[in-house]
Amino acid sequence: MFSKGLPHFASGVVIKGFGRGSKQLGIPTANFPESVVDSLPQELNTGVYYGWANVDGGPVYKMVMSIGWNPYYKNTKKSMETHILHTFPDDFYGSLLRVCLLGYIRPERDFQSLDDLIAAIKADIVVADEALEKSEMLQYKQDDFFHTNNVEDLCR
Ligand code: ADP
Ligand code: MG
Repeated sequence: MFSKGLPHFASGVVIKGFGRGSKQLGIPTANFPESVVDSLPQELNTGVYYGWANVDGGPVYKMVMSIGWNPYYKNTKKSMETHILHTFPDDFYGSLLRVCLLGYIRPERDFQSLDDLIAAIKADIVVADEALEKSEMLQYKQDDFFHTNNVEDLCR
C-alpha cells in the first residue's frame, strides 16, 4: 500500500528557509534543519509528498512536502519544505515540527512561470486533501508520535 520508505516520521525545529518568497505566494513552507534532511531514507525520491504535521504538539493537520535539491548548497544537499493545510495566526520559527510522510504525489519539476508553479502546488494540495481522507491515511493522524514527550519515540 505504501511506497518504499513510507510511512516516514520526522521531527525538528523550524529554521529560516532561503527566502524564496513562498509566503508571498500564499504558500509558506516550513524548513527543517540539515540533520533532519540527512536522516531521510535513501529510497525516498525528490518530489512532492503528502502526510500529516503538527507544531509544538498541537493539532494535527494535513500537509504537502517538497523534498528537493537545495539551491543554497548548489544542489548537492536536499531540503524538506512543509506546507501545512491550515492558516496559522503567526510564524512558528523555532517550534518543533513533526511530520509523517505517507504518499508520493509527483517528481520535482521546473516551472516556466510563477503561475504554473502556483497552479501545480494548488493541484498538489487537492490531491493531498483527498488522499488523506482514506481510513488507512486517517489512522496516522491519531498516532502517538504527534503528542509524545519522549524524544526517543519521535523518529521511527
Ligand atoms: P522561509 O524562506 O523562511 O521558509 P516562507 O515564506 O516559506 O519562509 O515561510 C515559512 C514560515 O511561515 C514557516 O517557517 C512558518 O514559521 C510560517 N508558516 C505560517 N503558516 C504556515 C503554514 N501553513 N505552513 C508552513 N509554514 C507556515
Ligand atoms: Mg520556506
